[in-house]
Amino acid sequence: MHNMGNLRDTLQKDNDSEESLISQFETTLTIRPTSNEIDELQDLSIDHTILHNNTINYTRDQSIVDITELEEEEIILEQIPKFKTKRRYSLQPKQAVRKSTSTSPVPKKSTSPNQEPDDSLYRPQHVDSKFEAILKPSVLIDQSLTRFTKAFSDFLNSNPHIQKESPRFVTENDKTLVILSPFSAEHAFGRRWVTKSYLSTIFERPQRLLASCIGVAAAVTMFPFFYKLSNSTKRGSVISSHVCKIHGKNWPKKLFELCLESHEKLNNDDIEVPEDWNTGDIYLTPKTINAIEGVLGTIETAMDSLYGSKNPQENHNLAFVVIRPPGHHSHACLPSGFCLLNNVQIGIQYAYEQYGVTHAAILDIDLHHGDGSQDICWERAGFQGDYGQDEEDEVDPKENPRDEYGKRFATYPKVGYFSLHDIKSYPTELGYATKENIKNASTCIMDHDLNIWNVHLQEWSNEEEFYKHYLTKYVAILNRANQFLNQAKKQYEHEYQTYLNNLSKYNKYLLKPYLYNQAIPKPTPPPPFKPLITISAGFDASEYENPQMQRHGINVPTSFYATITKDIVKLAKIHTNGKVVSFLEGGYSDGALSTGIFSHLIGLNNDEELLWNDTWGTEQVMRELVKGCKKNWLPYKKPQSDISVWANEVIKLGRSMMPNAILPANYVYEYQQPEPAPLNKMVKDIIGSSTAEVSSSPLKKDPEDERKIMRHTRSYYKKMASAQKQQLILEESSKQATPRY
Ligand SMILES: [Zn+2]
Repeated sequence: MHNMGNLRDTLQKDNDSEESLISQFETTLTIRPTSNEIDELQDLSIDHTILHNNTINYTRDQSIVDITELEEEEIILEQIPKFKTKRRYSLQPKQAVRKSTSTSPVPKKSTSPNQEPDDSLYRPQHVDSKFEAILKPSVLIDQSLTRFTKAFSDFLNSNPHIQKESPRFVTENDKTLVILSPFSAEHAFGRRWVTKSYLSTIFERPQRLLASCIGVAAAVTMFPFFYKLSNSTKRGSVISSHVCKIHGKNWPKKLFELCLESHEKLNNDDIEVPEDWNTGDIYLTPKTINAIEGVLGTIETAMDSLYGSKNPQENHNLAFVVIRPPGHHSHACLPSGFCLLNNVQIGIQYAYEQYGVTHAAILDIDLHHGDGSQDICWERAGFQGDYGQDEEDEVDPKENPRDEYGKRFATYPKVGYFSLHDIKSYPTELGYATKENIKNASTCIMDHDLNIWNVHLQEWSNEEEFYKHYLTKYVAILNRANQFLNQAKKQYEHEYQTYLNNLSKYNKYLLKPYLYNQAIPKPTPPPPFKPLITISAGFDASEYENPQMQRHGINVPTSFYATITKDIVKLAKIHTNGKVVSFLEGGYSDGALSTGIFSHLIGLNNDEELLWNDTWGTEQVMRELVKGCKKNWLPYKKPQSDISVWANEVIKLGRSMMPNAILPANYVYEYQQPEPAPLNKMVKDIIGSSTAEVSSSPLKKDPEDERKIMRHTRSYYKKMASAQKQQLILEESSKQATPRY
């Protein structure tokens, strides 16, 4: 099944012409071209894809990497991830929270889905009025997926045979749900003064979403009726109970405040994250708030789609959630390695609070160890986390006090963490890892309320060798997840039996209380066993990841993602009625993301017969998909071969999904105040300097403007009158805007 090597050898050498494209490419459907109406300009983009073929020089192929922007003399120290320091951060919000003490800012754990958290303070509309405009999401966000809907219907209309030939499911809900988070693209690097070479080291960039969408589109073109796409525009809250349970009361608020404060700092060309954070990995802007709230909303949407309907037939079983920033390095109270909040743990907490999910297995297939996810599992088991919540952070520390050994009762939900990763990469980067880091990333324990299993990726020279590792070593994470869920079920059955025994004792007592010395309390049943399987789906272990991200030659073939995902779905059919929810974690090159997600989605499917085809993971396919990740991609005018026809369609579909993620490679967030129409330079000169300050940053000043001759025309006077009116309004509104922070 996996003899990709042979196929590679037969491929023609580097050549962008269509004749060089592989003919062995197999689509499941014959795809005909739709019309090419593309109105975008040429552009070069940074992506971070590895090319194995020696004839393709990664550093010189400008169609792939805009490496000419690199200033070669500059040493890029930031490319070496720094491991976290031991220092604890002050997590107390700086400003006093304007909140009466009568109501707790964090609602008590609630099983009522209708109970809304009191998050009014942390809503953009309730912060300083100047942030209202800043926090307005991009106008390019296509909330109702109209562009995708049209692109998909064009695709079907151009290919009427697909309607007939395509296999499909009986019910809608057998489809795999792909949930996009359009607000995720709002989180972007905002230090505008950095060099271009520094900028090229920013791996966690909004354009990752475009590459992800192209990966989704690749799967959609192969099996058009097996996937359902949805856009989540729900905004969650950083102080909702499921976030605070994981991250404590203080850290989410601190994060929110840092995002707001970043506006001023970035404008002053200062570093916007606290001095002792890893400034190379983590960046913030006010719009990061949009991304975070969007991610939280998307996580909730995903869980709602799995459990929300009382009729199980109306719920989906399989979902892939396309979000960023990623989450698995995030500890309870320490952001780390691009991660601000621990998305998967928050999702599990939400599923517990809203839908009674009692047990969850996290299968983490990212290149890196999910140290944050694991640390939170220690906290859930009742131990103090390495970067866990202090007593003052905790939602309710008194409910369950620690014993003299520092342990408290493990509470629901019980979460197991099972990871396959490279032990030489972050946070155990060779040469930078501490003993503690290495121990954590190698922990294997299935007791003491802990269910943690870590397996390390091995080198391989051909796929046969890789799949030997898979069958002998890597499946351990599946076996241990299986063991965890089996034992959990047995324990539940045991607890339920104990409950039944106690209930019968209680009933006897009720009948003849006089026979008993003391009252028998009414027993409470254990919560019904309801397990879930989650995937921390990182694609940075891909063979096509950037060598700077993946410095040790430890990787996986693209087919791996389909294989392990298929096996995870099998496990879910045994334990969770087939429910699996997968969250995007890492994956930084366009090639790794697009091909990895393509493969992952082929595996994340309800059809056991559906198999990954090895011709889909080749370098030629990857190269075609990567072209579509550049801002100003242009389709082949007359695509001839199967692969170029296919790639055109995939890219068109992918680009239609999240238009606001189609950004130039050197995109840097900078807030530009929308200039009221009458306030042009000419008028501002007349009405005085105070209004001129309202204009955008001095960097944007056009020297030509200064030399323009003023002409006192009729429209000029009209403009001036309107500008004076504007001025009055501005003065009025600045009087009203009393900052709350
Ligand atoms: Zn990673």
